[in-house]
Amino acid sequence: SKFENLGLNESLLSAITDMGFETPSEVQEKAIPILLEDETDLVALAQTGTGKTAAFGFPLIQKIDVASRTTQALILSPTRELCLQIAKEMEAYSKYEKGLNIVAIYGGASITDQARQIKRGAQIVVATPGRMKDMIGRGMVDITKIDYCVLDEADEMLNMGFYEDIKDILSNTPKEKSTWLFSATMPKEVATIAKKFMHQPKEITV
Ligand code: AMP
Repeated sequence: SKFENLGLNESLLSAITDMGFETPSEVQEKAIPILLEDETDLVALAQTGTGKTAAFGFPLIQKIDVASRTTQALILSPTRELCLQIAKEMEAYSKYEKGLNIVAIYGGASITDQARQIKRGAQIVVATPGRMKDMIGRGMVDITKIDYCVLDEADEMLNMGFYEDIKDILSNTPKEKSTWLFSATMPKEVATIAKKFMHQPKEITV
């Protein structure tokens, strides 16, 4: 299979070539066409190292309206390191998408600096749940108009005790949005989140 056959636009294909990716991984092959074509919810069972960041990152980048500076997508991820890694990868994927701003927010760093970055206009926010909840509470970020919410490593986030934070955060998002949940395993708490906050999700396993 080829990246050219998945429905990705020219700027993403150019970035993919620059990164030296030759063929899509299994999760990319399965997820990208679904996420590009349908306004659907998706549950993807995939371990780290399978290329899942690109599996949600490519479709997300393609779907963002860069003419608007409104925050359109939220990616929740368990740790500061993962947030930074996702944001860095997404920057590389979107190097030819002019006007796309990605901001990472996480604990242990200046909240005012992060609020300033959000204020400049971030269409995609990558966040840890604790800092995200804090910034919502302080009115520093507005996720009431997002179209896409990605829950990355959902099982890890729940293991780390973020269930209540995730519930609070999701209750601040619109009902009409697409939610994409990625998890290595499917414990009861992950199934509960999927049941409570997702609408007839499609499912893929790699
Ligand atoms: P992830 O599972 O998203 O953490 O990705 C694991 C690593 O694989 C990252 O360093 C990616 O840059 C890389 N990667 C993702 N997709 C591909 C691909 N299709 N071909 C080669 N490397 C890839």
